[in-house]
Amino acid sequence: MHAFSRHSRSPGADISHMRSAAQGHTSASKLFLMYAAATLVPVLAVGVLLAISYRQHVERGGVAEARSQAALLSDDVIRPVLGREPLNGSVPAAVDSLLDAAFARATADQRLARMRLRDATGLVIWSDDGSGLGTSGGDDEVDEALEGDAVGKLTRLNVDAGDTGPAGPRVVEVYYPIKSQPDDEKPIGVLEMYVPYAPIEADVASGLRRTYLVLGVGLAFLWLVLALISASTTKRLRRQSDRLAYLAHYDDASGLLNRVGFADKVAHRLAITPEQPPAVALVNVSRFRDVNDALGRDSGDEILFQLGRRLVAAAGDNAIVGRMGGDEFGIACFAHNCGDIEGWATRLQAAASEPIEAAGVPVLVEVAVGFHRAEPNQSVDTVLTRADVALVHAKSTVDRRARYSPSFERSDASSLALLARLRDSLGNGGLELHYQPKTSLRDGGVESVEALVRWRLDDTLLSPGVFLPLAEQTALVHPLTDWVAREALRQLASWGEAAAGVGMAINVSARNVSDPAFADRLLRIVADSAVDPRLLTVEITETALLADPDAARKSLSGIHEAGMSISIDDFGQGQTSLAYLASLPVDELKIDRAFVAQVCDDSTQDAIVRSVIQLGHSLGLRVVAEGIEDERTLDRLIDLEADVGQGFYIARPMRPDRFADWREDHDRARLRVVG
Ligand code: C2E
Ligand code: CA
Ligand code: CA
Repeated sequence: MHAFSRHSRSPGADISHMRSAAQGHTSASKLFLMYAAATLVPVLAVGVLLAISYRQHVERGGVAEARSQAALLSDDVIRPVLGREPLNGSVPAAVDSLLDAAFARATADQRLARMRLRDATGLVIWSDDGSGLGTSGGDDEVDEALEGDAVGKLTRLNVDAGDTGPAGPRVVEVYYPIKSQPDDEKPIGVLEMYVPYAPIEADVASGLRRTYLVLGVGLAFLWLVLALISASTTKRLRRQSDRLAYLAHYDDASGLLNRVGFADKVAHRLAITPEQPPAVALVNVSRFRDVNDALGRDSGDEILFQLGRRLVAAAGDNAIVGRMGGDEFGIACFAHNCGDIEGWATRLQAAASEPIEAAGVPVLVEVAVGFHRAEPNQSVDTVLTRADVALVHAKSTVDRRARYSPSFERSDASSLALLARLRDSLGNGGLELHYQPKTSLRDGGVESVEALVRWRLDDTLLSPGVFLPLAEQTALVHPLTDWVAREALRQLASWGEAAAGVGMAINVSARNVSDPAFADRLLRIVADSAVDPRLLTVEITETALLADPDAARKSLSGIHEAGMSISIDDFGQGQTSLAYLASLPVDELKIDRAFVAQVCDDSTQDAIVRSVIQLGHSLGLRVVAEGIEDERTLDRLIDLEADVGQGFYIARPMRPDRFADWREDHDRARLRVVG
């Protein structure tokens, strides 16, 4: 999908990639040289072997030629004048002159260097120069020839056993048995001939030169082909190994470093500048699964890709950005260019929170950020683990952003200890309420605000999801809800004019409404506050109602009779029977945000929301849609005629001191639209 961008890299990624490419280059040319050298050895060996075997072949040819000369002389010239009797001691006169003439002819042509005739015992009976006359050789060759086998070999003159004088030029010597009949075993004599090797050698030399030339050209060509093949192979190998190196360190989809690459790079920087520890942040997309389910995988990929780019841009120069896997990114900032780390993390979060366009739709993703300023000489593992601990913590905070603190490691050590701290906080002003407006979907006016509790612990605000379940397991939930009610009403009164006509909603737990004393306590709190009870709405989740239906009905009736409204929160999650619902003193249904979020993308959810609205209206209830995160959803719910809306698109939960300004802005914008 991102073919155009596959190999785009984060700014920090370039240097090391170039370095590894250069390393790839040198190692590839080294590889090529090795390959070339390695192929040269067998090619040269083949050349040498071919040359040797050619020389041997030519020499064998020379010997064979000398032998056939001897055969010719013996069979066609000498034998016809000999009788059948073996030669013995002397040479017949006819033969003598014949040999003289033949030798004279042959030497004239330089075809013969020496010739001898031996009798049937091996005794030399004729010799062209008289050498060896009367000796009987004793050479193996002579014996072999006497056995009837012709012998030929390359040697030098005068090196045989019976010869005297200095060794002469190279010759081919032949001992040729002269047989009176071709089938005879024993010869009647032996013709001994020495053929000069020089002409043969000249032949050999010129043949060899030609052969060497052809061989050389052929082998050079062969080697060239091999070298070319090896060059292209090494090139391909290099490309492959580059690709593997890339994949080992980069994430293909985002073009960013992957977890391994990120950790490597951070470790590398840590090693070269240990005195300059980085700030490391882990950014995790909340509910990314939902985005994928709603928009499809391609859009999900596109969103992650865009997110990566944004983080690169927001991270600052020289920062290292990686995709740690799934929907999580890692960012490391060295030196001082990330400024104060809180601000840096906030900028990263803000950059990720701008709407991203995927498949033509602007999508708002929410990210959690855990960050940590490494300490000198901390290992990359420790740094990443701490950022991770901070991330886990961030997910339970209201801002969804947390800086690592050692207390995070302890905070889950024991829920009992945490409960004790919660109890302390309740008495010491450690809890806070934030307020999220609900506005009319008819005219946009502010209907009410919902009080949402937070716990300030070690400089972070914990969201109710983290500590409420704990409180709800114990009686601590009673003083907690009492405090929320008291504080919310006090706040409403203290806003004064700024909250004119605005109601207050508080949330209560299953355990509260099962407590028979709860309603009375709440009534007293309201009475003490002097706020009109009709301004107060009590939200209770559908599932909480089902925990103890009878007790719940009693509590809610008491509250309702005192003039307060009852709202069924997260409606649609449980399976309340209509009959039961109708039997309760309910004033409002709050459609669970899981349905609302999908209303534009999923026709089933749309149908559910539509029928809940109709159902609510037919029971005479006000219907609130919570979790409105974008304009499309808001428009759709207006179309479906929900009465009231609430959600991040309208306003996020806010600190009480911001309410007056927000309302003023909101009303001004609203009147501009209406007017
Ligand atoms: P809730 O009653 O459904 O409260 C609304 C929650 O949805 C709030 O989370 C709010 O921040 C969040 N929210 C509001 N608009 C949007 C939106 O557009 N998109 C998304 N994704 N979320 C939105 P918070 O403050 O974390 O509260 C969580 C739950 O804790 C509340 O759910 C409520 O059930 C409970 N709670 C909060 N305060 C109290 C309290 O004082 N007492 C009791 N018993 N429960 C409380
Ligand atoms: Ca609520
Ligand atoms: Ca709700």
